Amino acid sequence: MQACRTENEICLPDSDLPRVVVIGGGFAGISLIKQLKNKPFQVVVLDKNNFHQFQPLLYQIATSGIEPGNIAFPLRKMFKGYSNVYYRMASVNEIQSESNTVLTDIGTIEFDYLIIATGSDTNFFGLKDVQKHALGMKSIQEALDIRSIILQNLEKSVVTCDDVERDALTNFAVIGGGPAGVETAGAIAEFKKYILPRDYPELDASIMSVYLIEADDELLKSMSSKSSENSLKFLNKMGVDVRLNNMVKSYDGLNIKTNKGALLQARTMIWTAGVKGNVPTGIKKQNITNGNRILVDDYCRLKGYENIYAIGDIAAILSENYPNGHPMVAQVAIQQGKNLSSNLLLQLKGRGMSEFKYKNKGSLATIGKRRAVADIGRLKFGGYTAWLLWSFVHLISISGFKNKILVAMNWAWSYFTYDKGNRLIIRKFK
Ligand SMILES: Cc1cc2nc3c(=O)[nH]c(=O)nc-3n(C[C@H](O)[C@H](O)[C@H](O)COP(=O)(O)OP(=O)(O)OC[C@H]3O[C@@H](n4cnc5c(N)ncnc54)[C@H](O)[C@@H]3O)c2cc1C
Repeated sequence: MQACRTENEICLPDSDLPRVVVIGGGFAGISLIKQLKNKPFQVVVLDKNNFHQFQPLLYQIATSGIEPGNIAFPLRKMFKGYSNVYYRMASVNEIQSESNTVLTDIGTIEFDYLIIATGSDTNFFGLKDVQKHALGMKSIQEALDIRSIILQNLEKSVVTCDDVERDALTNFAVIGGGPAGVETAGAIAEFKKYILPRDYPELDASIMSVYLIEADDELLKSMSSKSSENSLKFLNKMGVDVRLNNMVKSYDGLNIKTNKGALLQARTMIWTAGVKGNVPTGIKKQNITNGNRILVDDYCRLKGYENIYAIGDIAAILSENYPNGHPMVAQVAIQQGKNLSSNLLLQLKGRGMSEFKYKNKGSLATIGKRRAVADIGRLKFGGYTAWLLWSFVHLISISGFKNKILVAMNWAWSYFTYDKGNRLIIRKFK
């Protein structure tokens, strides 16, 4: 039976079980919930989206490779058969830790345990003009905006008689030389090589330029130097103009200025240069650390609380090996979710909890559809084998059997035909 204890409370079935409220159905949230299936907790998942999204392939939506539905999975479908799990579509506005209550746009909810798994958002480092004019890539909605702007600007370039404006419309600037930036720049370069001549025969393909702008002196800083060098080599081969040692300082929608002065004019800027934690209102200042992440102990618990935890991108466990917290990657989120679920079960049995220990399974980044770089333990390699490994790892990680098949079919089609699937402006951007 549905029950609301107070007028403004979100309706949920009556239960004597301790209530675990999970904010966020991302990698961390779903990994935790999967382990709590049919266990003696009432688990309530709150997410502003009714789907889980596989962020590592957002760049393929942005560059017309795959469809949004291929990397999204409905949360209600995901938890079908979980008799103790309830999804509520809600945007969390505030956490009131003293009264164990969460305030959302659909009402309030009380918790016995609270798990904050709200992930991260784009960090524009306080550059207001950049934030206004550049596009972040943290969600399916934003990836679709990027797809629209790329296609819209190409359409505009076909009809303009102004040579300078045509140049700006066909210059694509990707900011940030991490995996997302490298992968996006590679995919746009492939678009230029294979799609532009087919779809836009009236444009001289050489007019389109792809820039990758990085503040540091190398790409893929978090990977080995061999992978950094390989990625630069692969991108250069694909015609991407990589500008290292250039920190973007301003962008007015046309002019890009870096620490070295005016760099170029581009109507499209894709910003992948940084992320920061998505901290809900109500978390005390002393619980927030570098990168706007929530400071937690080795059990992912907030200091000063017995029943409030944070996992995934939002959480930072500071240690000697990870002085700024663990890397903001899917494996950390998944492993923290698993560790915390088993700790909640241990607590129920009155047993001690186990500390979170990260097992680094390696890093991969793809550059176009035939090359990738890989750091797996002591093995550092690049090229076709790394690309096969990248494809396999990503395919098995996507949620849903149908999605795996659809993505595999899209990739196979693109591999053999050099074509991309979906050059659709689903909704116009601005
Ligand atoms: C473009 C891109 C490429 C990436 N590539 C890789 C890669 O190749 N390999 C890798 O390991 N990692 C990659 N990552 C990082 C990886 O996706 C993240 O580390 C991972 O998603 C973190 O999981 P999470 O559960 O902490 O957060 P998320 O997966 O971001 O989930 C957070 C959830 O919280 C919800 N939420 C947030 N705020 C609220 C609120 N106020 N109310 C309700 N719901 C809320 C969101 O809707 C979302 O569902 C990439 C990220 C991006 C953006």
